[in-house]
Amino acid sequence: KTTESLAEAIHQKEQLLKQLESENRRDALTLLANRRHLNEFLPREMERARRYGHPLTIAMLDIDHFKKVNDTLGHAMGDQVLCVLANILITELRTTDFAARYGGEEFVIVFPETIVGDAVSACDKLRTLIALHPWPRLARNLNVTVSFGVAPMAHPDQTMAQLLAGADRALYQAKSSGRNRVCEARLDAPDTESIALGCAN
Ligand code: GH3
Ligand code: MG
Ligand code: MG
Repeated sequence: KTTESLAEAIHQKEQLLKQLESENRRDALTLLANRRHLNEFLPREMERARRYGHPLTIAMLDIDHFKKVNDTLGHAMGDQVLCVLANILITELRTTDFAARYGGEEFVIVFPETIVGDAVSACDKLRTLIALHPWPRLARNLNVTVSFGVAPMAHPDQTMAQLLAGADRALYQAKSSGRNRVCEARLDAPDTESIALGCAN
């Protein structure tokens, strides 16, 4: 009997550890992967892309004028918008893609095995779906758009920080050129300084 209850206790401990580990990598509000999970996942995918010479592209997205949603409709409505947006990402992306909440209203998508042009198309589809979502059903006068910065893994010795910085720069370009658009970081040379940016719309 003692052996049995010991086995049961061990089993319970294992289950608890599994649950803690899963919660540790998930964002509590949206239930998407959190930044910690991204920090594990992305370097692994970059290593795989490097090893097999496969493409890899990431996107960073940021809600446009989100502060206004909080200010005019309240923080709880802002939270709801984040959850709906996370749901759209999960529903629309391929199961092999990976979406994480990167910060407050910023998300990162990893597109394994995907060239930059295809990732831009996927992001532009998401952008349209988000813009056309029936947000006023949630709150009258609510409308939500997002901006995207897309960056491909451009050379084998690129670091995760460099890849994220490329997406961030493209996102900045999307914001400053009008928002509700997808911009791409084009690395014309392995030198990360020489980046030419182009917008899809
Ligand atoms: P931009 O188009 O330039 O991105 O403008 P913005 O208003 O979205 O950008 P800004 O960075 O000024 O504001 C981001 C806002 O996101 C401010 C912050 O209060 C809000 N925010 C961050 N995390 C959360 C959250 O978990 N819930 C809610 N409701 N709001 C959040
Ligand atoms: Mg932001
Ligand atoms: Mg924003």
